[in-house]
Amino acid sequence: MKGFDITLFPMLNLNDPMGFYLNLEKLKKIFEEYQDDLSEVKISAQKYKTVMDKHDPFIQSYSAKTCPYCGTICCANRHGVPDFGDLIIFLALDLRAPHYNLVQDERAPCQFIGERGCKVERILRPYRCTWYYCDPMLVQIEIDKPSEYRRFIKEVGELAETRGETLYKFWEFWKAKGYDK
Ligand code: SF4
Ligand code: SF4
Repeated sequence: MKGFDITLFPMLNLNDPMGFYLNLEKLKKIFEEYQDDLSEVKISAQKYKTVMDKHDPFIQSYSAKTCPYCGTICCANRHGVPDFGDLIIFLALDLRAPHYNLVQDERAPCQFIGERGCKVERILRPYRCTWYYCDPMLVQIEIDKPSEYRRFIKEVGELAETRGETLYKFWEFWKAKGYDK
């Protein structure tokens, strides 16, 4: 399995902060109430975190080579807010998501960008912040050692696989409980 169709879950509308936080509270309650039913989801999420922790220094090293010289910083508010799948992953890992200010201009610089880059721990960033490799970064990887390129392909695939597995298991639970109706 590679990836998961996130549109099967409710879409979080950033222009609807109340809806966003209601969905977050609903998910929190589900994770509290169904700890046992969600044990497999949590195991898969831990596998995802292991890959993410392994991949983090790789991204960091290529960000350091490209981002300081970038004229089109990609970190906008609309990218820095999680989707439903990200919230599932955070809760499956017993992590507390940062507080999101949802009433900001979605095209403005991300609320989490600081002078030294993103202020949020990698695992608590939206997944899109990790899988998005811009062209300058891809070029850097391609001109680096072939082993680096092989590592990139392998780890990005593992991220998609483990995240997809986690969300698929949650989807099975979600359907079994009738939340998809
Ligand atoms: S990831 Fe790419 S587009 Fe985004 S700030 Fe860094 S160099 Fe620029
Ligand atoms: S990497 Fe950090 S600063 Fe950039 S969009 Fe994502 S959360 Fe925001």
